[in-house]
Amino acid sequence: KAKVEQGEISIHTENIFPIIKKWLYSEHEIFLRELVSNAVDAIHKLQHVNLVEGLQLSDEYAVDIEVDKDAGTLTVRDNGIGMTADEVRKYINQIAFSSAEEFVSRFKDLEDKKQIIGHFGLGFYSAFMVADKVEIRSLSYAEGAEGVHWSCDGSTSYELRSFPKAERGTDIILHLSDDTKEFLEPARLREVLKRYCNFLPLPIRLAGETINDCEPLWSRTPSEVSDEQYLEFYRKLYPLAEDPLFWIHLNIDFPFNLKGIVYFPRLTNEFDVTASHIKLFCNQVFVSDDCRELIPEFLTPLQGCLDAPDLPLNVSRSYLQNEPQVRKIQEVLAGRVAGKIVELAKDLESFGPIWEDIHTFVKFGMMKDEKFYKKLADKVVFRTTGEEKYTTLDAYLERAKEKHAGKVFYTSDEAAQAPYLKLFADQGFEVLKLEAMIDSHFIQFLEMKNSEVKFERIDADIADGLLDTEAGSEIASGKDQKTLSEALQEFFGKVLDIKGLKVRVEALRDAAVPGVVLLNEQTRRFKEMTRAM
Ligand code: ADP
Ligand code: MG
Repeated sequence: KAKVEQGEISIHTENIFPIIKKWLYSEHEIFLRELVSNAVDAIHKLQHVNLVEGLQLSDEYAVDIEVDKDAGTLTVRDNGIGMTADEVRKYINQIAFSSAEEFVSRFKDLEDKKQIIGHFGLGFYSAFMVADKVEIRSLSYAEGAEGVHWSCDGSTSYELRSFPKAERGTDIILHLSDDTKEFLEPARLREVLKRYCNFLPLPIRLAGETINDCEPLWSRTPSEVSDEQYLEFYRKLYPLAEDPLFWIHLNIDFPFNLKGIVYFPRLTNEFDVTASHIKLFCNQVFVSDDCRELIPEFLTPLQGCLDAPDLPLNVSRSYLQNEPQVRKIQEVLAGRVAGKIVELAKDLESFGPIWEDIHTFVKFGMMKDEKFYKKLADKVVFRTTGEEKYTTLDAYLERAKEKHAGKVFYTSDEAAQAPYLKLFADQGFEVLKLEAMIDSHFIQFLEMKNSEVKFERIDADIADGLLDTEAGSEIASGKDQKTLSEALQEFFGKVLDIKGLKVRVEALRDAAVPGVVLLNEQTRRFKEMTRAM
């Protein structure tokens, strides 16, 4: 005497099914993520009422994925809270269908489908991307509940009847359409489950075998995780990469939720510093591996996992760009990276080589972000000709205090400026070795921040009297009684044709260099800048 209810789902769009089917053609596989996360939600809901109502359930909770090749069906089964007939009417017929409708109307005109980060929001209805017909069999946890069976072909008519189901929970049965039979293949299913469900907090089983890691490292307490475990996790995420330079374990629940482990990678030539490398999760459900909005631009190389359960994920990326949460996440990341660098910088010897890998990003960050600058202002490291291989600016200036206070001598090309380096070495001056592109900008920035510091390249027209010259070194030249300076001035003026050329003759004490051309620092920088522009 099974009573069958045939009904119409009241949504405004006549038939969203064709749109859904066409939509996100290449992203069909996300249906599995949606169904598995609904199953996980259903178990969490049951665990919650279990706690609140003291139901004394002691089940082994899991989500099972099974295929029946002959029938052409894929089943997602959970032993969660289940649904009564009324709940199916409400949550599936009304809410799931109308939210799918809303989702479609919101995004159907979007040119770039990838803009919807993680494509959240489609939910249960995404089953119709791959199935001609979907069945639900469910038994609610509620006492005396009766099993229900619902089926629908994606159109607005459905069928609902009571159904003898022995175990509490829900089965979602998909009758896969002809062009999606790939999802009957265990290998293909495994691949999709690995991608989206690898870190879900409950066992996800494919043909009885658990495929996920229910307790991803980021969900643990940082103090209980060893360095070796962090490295192991990294190697699992990026099997081809070299070990990272350092990592940060985020475990924040106030003022917002953010968990995760981010790694600063070793920047090999193959590493793409312009791509986004962080995997974004929402309560351990994989969402996207492009979440560049969340990362400050200067930290783009960061790798690892972020789990941001509070983020409104069913929004476009342009929306994310104006989302205040996103700013806060960026600030937290910048702050934590700065903190880690401060910690590492305590030991200059081990920090030096790390610095060489990260310095471009740190300098870029300091120029972009005042807070980041303030935290790291005294941690900037330079390679030096001094006794130690690395020095901070403060330490350099301290040593230079007597001989050339506030002046920082640097070379931008050790090979090309070798004679000058020799000259400076002979005079006992310490020289910083800059060579990176960013340094020409960065030293201007440092000069702007500290008005009493001036950088002078070693071929600069450095202030008189700095180089150690022999007294009375001016020598008269030849017959017409000109000084050697005047004679050389005239000579070089003719051959070099340089406006404002000045020739100075001085005998440098202990120097094996016959002569050098010195260029005014500011003029040279200005010329380089205009040329670069
Ligand atoms: P969302 O998960 O965002 O709420 P969905 O469209 O995925 O939206 O699901 C709609 C609703 O259907 C859920 O909120 C839930 O109430 C119900 N539901 C879906 N799948 C299950 C399930 N496996 N067990 C119990 N309820 C479910
Ligand atoms: Mg859902």
